[in-house]
Amino acid sequence: MKLTIIGGGITGLSAAYHAIKQAKEENIPLELTLLEADSHWGGKIKTDRTDGFVIEGGPDTFLATKPWGMALCKELGLSDRLHGTNPEQKNTYVLHKDELVGLPDGLAMMIPGKVMPMLITPLLNPLQKMRIGLDFLLPTRKGDEDESLGSFISRRMGRATYENLIEPLMSGIYAGDGDKLSLQSTFPFLRDFEIKYGSLARGAMKMYRARVKSQKQTGSRSVFRTPTTGLAEITEALVAYLEENNANLHLNTPVSLVTPHSSHYEIGLDNGKTLKSDTLILASPPYVTGDLIESHLPELAEVLKSIPYVSTATVSLAYKLGDLPRALDGYGYVIPRREGRKALACTWTSTKFPHRAPEGHALLRVFVGRAGQENDIPWNEEGLLEIAREELALTLGITADPLLSRTYIWEKAMPQYNLGHPEKIDAINAALADIPTLAFAGNGYHGIGIPNCINSGDMAAQKILAKGK
Ligand SMILES: Cc1cc2nc3c(=O)[nH]c(=O)nc-3n(C[C@H](O)[C@H](O)[C@H](O)COP(=O)(O)OP(=O)(O)OC[C@H]3O[C@@H](n4cnc5c(N)ncnc54)[C@H](O)[C@@H]3O)c2cc1C
Repeated sequence: MKLTIIGGGITGLSAAYHAIKQAKEENIPLELTLLEADSHWGGKIKTDRTDGFVIEGGPDTFLATKPWGMALCKELGLSDRLHGTNPEQKNTYVLHKDELVGLPDGLAMMIPGKVMPMLITPLLNPLQKMRIGLDFLLPTRKGDEDESLGSFISRRMGRATYENLIEPLMSGIYAGDGDKLSLQSTFPFLRDFEIKYGSLARGAMKMYRARVKSQKQTGSRSVFRTPTTGLAEITEALVAYLEENNANLHLNTPVSLVTPHSSHYEIGLDNGKTLKSDTLILASPPYVTGDLIESHLPELAEVLKSIPYVSTATVSLAYKLGDLPRALDGYGYVIPRREGRKALACTWTSTKFPHRAPEGHALLRVFVGRAGQENDIPWNEEGLLEIAREELALTLGITADPLLSRTYIWEKAMPQYNLGHPEKIDAINAALADIPTLAFAGNGYHGIGIPNCINSGDMAAQKILAKGK
């Protein structure tokens, strides 16, 4: 069987790894080709190791509570290289009226799971705090239609709780507009809390207690993991595995067209060449996948291209510790949309992961760009660096010149699972159900986090390999 995978991000690499592994286990002869447009493997996973700093351009960690990332690292022999976030720190801040305010303790997946920290937080006034209490009394909404995350939280806990607490935390994941994001596609367990416990807070309290218990058992407080010298350790190990198993790996190879024939696919490359393949996994973003198949599957292409993406950027800056007027006593801060800043969040990387900067130095990372604000951002290195430095000066009082800075611009990087997303996924699944030789995978469909992408690649490989049995 000839399998070609388009897109060498974590999803495409995972699809290739799982396809080869399964083919070996089941004695299916497999010739695998992986085509990547860019000059590096890993897509959004991009680690720069410079002058003793470990700088992540895209993601910097993955959730250990979703099994697929941990399982893959174990298979790749990376388990011993995984670290949680710094156990000596626990603060994360929220910018509130231009001041940094500590996130209340006891949040479970963003939702308050402890009463006392909510009673004393300055993020909400007394009336707004009382409004949260209504969550225990309000009836469960009837019906099973979807609603936006913003409307759901506002309905259960009040608009202020959404705007001051939940929105900035959610933005850190999706860079999205919570009043548009589908609850069903982003945080379905929150609706489950409402249905099962009649209250969001009651569900969060149970989740929080279960987490504390499991942390006591495992001895680890962090739900996140990352390899010692960055997430690229995972993609590097995947590429090494693929090379050992004779996969045909091609960087700098953008695909421009996919043409289905009765017995095979013809893959047109930007360089004018064409390849043939029996089967195909498209691990490119849905808007690219839509373009590639448009001439032959126009209706499916239209659905794929209707999944919106938001552009985002990160700017990492390194300083001598002595140049910082304030101690970096936490993991960083998130910025609510209502604060009107161009930045979205700032991670104090060298505190979050202490091995990411040399002794006596600090590494910070500013996130820029969120849904609905893209036209306000200058999408060039100079403009983004200026926004990042302005943010650090305003909030942390840092005016010194950075020792080094790195800017990464991620055009159309963050999929927006807006209202209507579940119906789009149903339509895509229905269209692909009768085509056993074709699979789509990636962050645009079932989950944006790295573990979800790994699983998505695995599922696509399983679908294709089922044909070879
Ligand atoms: C700034 C940032 C921070 C993030 N932080 C986290 C985090 O901390 N934890 C977490 O779990 N997730 C995080 N995410 C999300 C996560 O990184 C992504 O969802 C995930 O890496 C996407 O992987 P992917 O392989 O599906 O897509 P991509 O990484 O986008 O890979 C798709 C690949 O397809 C290639 N391609 C596109 N068109 C073509 C073509 N025509 N021909 C050939 N190849 C093509 C692209 O070049 C790309 O390499 C973050 C994302 C960003 C942008």
